[in-house]
Order: sequence, then C-alpha cells, then structure tokens
Amino acid sequence: MAGFYTHITTSSILGVAVGAFGAWHFQFDWGIACLAAGLTALGGMLPDLDSDSGIPVRELFGVAGFLIPLLLFERLRAFNLTPEQFLVVLAGAYLFVRYGVSEMFRRITVHRGMYHSVPAMIIAGLAVFLMHRPDQAIVGEELQKRLYLAVGVMIGFLSHLVLDEIYAVDLMGVVPKLNQFAGSAVKLKSDSWIATGITYSILAGLGYLAWISTGSPTWAQAYQQTISPMSSARSSVK
Ligand SMILES: [Zn+2]
Repeated sequence: MAGFYTHITTSSILGVAVGAFGAWHFQFDWGIACLAAGLTALGGMLPDLDSDSGIPVRELFGVAGFLIPLLLFERLRAFNLTPEQFLVVLAGAYLFVRYGVSEMFRRITVHRGMYHSVPAMIIAGLAVFLMHRPDQAIVGEELQKRLYLAVGVMIGFLSHLVLDEIYAVDLMGVVPKLNQFAGSAVKLKSDSWIATGITYSILAGLGYLAWISTGSPTWAQAYQQTISPMSSARSSVK
C-alpha cells in the first residue's frame, strides 16, 4: 500500500493544480483557490484516518480539530460571541476532535474498511459543500464555489484510493499479481453490512441536506445551475 508521503505528495501536487485551475479558469480569488488547494491536499490523507496508529494520523486529527471550527467560522459568528468566548469554543472543538473523535475512530473503524470507498469520497465532498458558510442559500456563484471546493477534496480523496489500489499490484514479477489489499480501496461496499449501511445512510442524509440547501432543485434545474454557469464562465474566459 502507498505510504503517507506518497499520498501527501500526490495530493499536494493535485492541490496546486486544482488551485491554479480555479484561479485561471473560474477566476476565483486567491482565498478560494488556496482553500481548494489545501482541501485537495487534505483529501489525499483523509482515508487513512481509519488506521489505528502512527504520527500522520494523530497529526491529521490535530489538523482537523483546527480546521473544522475555522470552516464553521461564519456559523459561529451568528452567535455573537466575544473574542474570548470564541477562543474557548475553538479550543474546545480542537480538544474534542483531537482526543474525543480520534478515540472514537480508533474504536469503531477498521483499516481499509468503508473509509476507503467511493461513497466515503462523496461524503467528504458533501461535507465540504455543506460546511463552508452554511447560513446562506447555495445558489449562483456560491454554488459554483462550493462545488469547486467539494470537487477539490474529492480529487484528493480519489488520488488516495487509486494509489492504494496501484500499490496493491505487485510489479516485481513478470506478470503483475495482486496482493491481499487488492480491491480494498476503490470500492462501493465492504464485507460489513453495518458499516456499508451506516456509510450509505450518511451519504443519503448529507445528499438530502445538499439538495435542500440549493433550493430543492429538479434534475433539470440542478443541471442548469451547475453545468451551465461553468460553461458560461468557460466561454467568458475565452
Ligand atoms: Zn489508504
């Protein structure tokens, strides 16, 4: 299987590409472009949150504990907290994610379980789509930005799954053979129907929230809102 540094190098390179694409093609400001680049790089590490040990994993929970409250910044601001209260909330969220959530993960997840799967990738994308400034309706330009960030994290995530699969092929022999992890990364379900069920329930729940937050569009409207602005943005660049 691919190591931590292979994953982070690949997803960081993809992150730079995603950021550059957003800045040049969609003319997003540097804030959105850099955020997308960072999310893409982070996406490449996310699937290995399920491994029980190792500094990278602890590091990741540290990063997540720091990033999640920041991404919820707009929502927190609605509570009119004083700067001191805001700091306390940030510190509390950090400790909760870094120690509470990571301990929960350690107990319930199986390495190379549903965390290494296509639905988990879509969940990561939907979570990013919904997390960043959840107070406003996701339409028009906002929708385009959200999709861009969500696609970024999913590209990083996918690079991880694909790398894990590639490294499952043993190229030492003349005929490539598959090692024990083959087929365990890019997959739609796992052996545990409970894990599979929970994953798809979360996917359905977040999908529903995303659908509501964009004004419950029909398929035709969703196509109009998502594909059309992008193609018009593309033609205006030319
Ligand atoms: Zn992995």
